[in-house]
Amino acid sequence: MPASMKRKAAQEAPSERVFEGLGVSAGIAIGPAHIYEAGNVSVPDYAIGADQVEAEQKRFADAVAAARKQIAKLKTKSSALHGSAAEEMGYLLDAYMQMLAGSRLVRGVEKRISEQRINAERAVESEIDAITEGFKQMGDAYLSERGEDIREVGDRLIRHLTRTPYAQTIADAPAGSVVIAEDLTPADTALLDPKVVGGFTTVLGGPQGHTAIMARSLGLPAVVGVSELMEGIRAGEMVIIDGTRGEVTVSPTPATLERAKARQDALRQEQRLLLRVAKLPSVTSDGTAITLEANIELPVEVDLAVTAAAEGIGLLRTEFLFMNREAVPDEDEQYKLLREIVKGMGGKPVTIRTLDIGNDKLIGTHGDDSAEAANPALGLRAIRLSLKHRDMLETQLAAILRAGAHGPVRILLPMITSTAEIQETREVMRGVVRRLKRRNVRISDPLPPVGVMIEVPGAALSADALALVSDFFALGTNDLTQYTLAIDRSDEQVAHLYNPLHPAVLRLIQFSVEAALRARIPVSVCGEMASDPRFTALLLGLGIRDLSMAPVHLLRVKQRLRALDLDAAARRARTIMEQSDPVRIAALLDEFNGGA
Ligand code: PEP
Ligand code: MG
Repeated sequence: MPASMKRKAAQEAPSERVFEGLGVSAGIAIGPAHIYEAGNVSVPDYAIGADQVEAEQKRFADAVAAARKQIAKLKTKSSALHGSAAEEMGYLLDAYMQMLAGSRLVRGVEKRISEQRINAERAVESEIDAITEGFKQMGDAYLSERGEDIREVGDRLIRHLTRTPYAQTIADAPAGSVVIAEDLTPADTALLDPKVVGGFTTVLGGPQGHTAIMARSLGLPAVVGVSELMEGIRAGEMVIIDGTRGEVTVSPTPATLERAKARQDALRQEQRLLLRVAKLPSVTSDGTAITLEANIELPVEVDLAVTAAAEGIGLLRTEFLFMNREAVPDEDEQYKLLREIVKGMGGKPVTIRTLDIGNDKLIGTHGDDSAEAANPALGLRAIRLSLKHRDMLETQLAAILRAGAHGPVRILLPMITSTAEIQETREVMRGVVRRLKRRNVRISDPLPPVGVMIEVPGAALSADALALVSDFFALGTNDLTQYTLAIDRSDEQVAHLYNPLHPAVLRLIQFSVEAALRARIPVSVCGEMASDPRFTALLLGLGIRDLSMAPVHLLRVKQRLRALDLDAAARRARTIMEQSDPVRIAALLDEFNGGA
């Protein structure tokens, strides 16, 4: 939060304020606000050669561009603030923008890089020190406040340069608190311990971004996209985060607090009752078995998957292995973590997806080239990155194959668009198998099936060709929706347009399922669509018999499918596939859900 907003906040007496946002993870959290602000960034300091000046200038220019983009986004959000707050925030952000546009700061840093031959971070720090020192010397209170602002801009730049997320100290949130932040990356969210913090709320973020997914996985109630959130909130103020309704209440009255506690108790009670469903078989009312598996992001979730009676892990997102660390983990470290997950599932299959970084999952370790791309979602991410950094892919495949000696594993490749990528990965895997055998290392026997995510429209449209070289399909409806509708899944401004019920998305799902069934390979849905009981009838009606979702959703989906008649679901799916209007599709689905 900018310094001037904090000062304003300090003068206001607390009274109940209710903010609307996007509820992305259900449940209610109540606790004192922990206003999450960036921790200290360490500034690297090194000399550069004459031949590196140009590259360093470019790195700096990229950081300026990224910071400007971030501020522009904040500006759009802040325009929704009430009254003078919008104006004040607007002025401040405009001033930040100016500081990043050919100002003394930018010119000064460029000069320092070329003349003093120092790295960009160090040049930013020195220039900021020089400017603020100058302000201080003038002995003017107003100007020393501007000094604080310029430091904030410098801090942003250094964070972009060092790729330090804005939440280094998030793990320090006090017990029982709820986290309030401008933005949280998935890596920040992974550091939140549900036993310590109650939930979180942010100004930025959309419902299908990985931060939201992580919140659901951790069972942390969360509301994102709350534009007015930072207005006047004080550390320690009591906050209710209602992730079910998408509402944040600050300094609630005793009556509001009482009602929230009663709802929290009721939700917990409902959750306990739902646990009974875990023991019941996963079959439709006409007796067809449906496989329900778990998506997990972190090893701690294995217990949740087992408690929810998941029949396997349908998607293990391995990004956790690479988050919040400097160096890429070696084969042994990856193997040991994967082995624990495989063992934890006690003989049930674990589908391990190779690294899927890029888009909103920037993790900042070596090999994460996507951070610099103009369009990370369309850039060098997922399988493309793995095939470029062969050593990383080989290490990961070796770790997976070794973990496969302890229980059944499947290998899943993210963001596939062509058969060539699958064949190339298989080739790399054959090499890894040969090397491991030479080392006499125990590996999966037989070798694990290699399947692909269908999450790009091009992949869905060529699903028949991909099926010929794949052992199974996993439909990633999150990215499939994002790419089909050209809607950034983590951008709160277009969140209202994100709709997996759009006929274009449904047709791609249908085409992919039919291609898999024709080729007689298994097909599952592991995007968020699988976790919403509203969509269960449609997905089963389209021929899906395997759904994978965060463990928290599994029992509710099971409850839904146990009440479903497959023939009726298939008939309703046929009617839906004849429709062109997503609103009509949703109505047809709701009507069916209400009656069956
Ligand atoms: C998807 O895109 O639907 C998916 C399951 O993968 P992720 O959410 O990790 O991108
Ligand atoms: Mg995806």
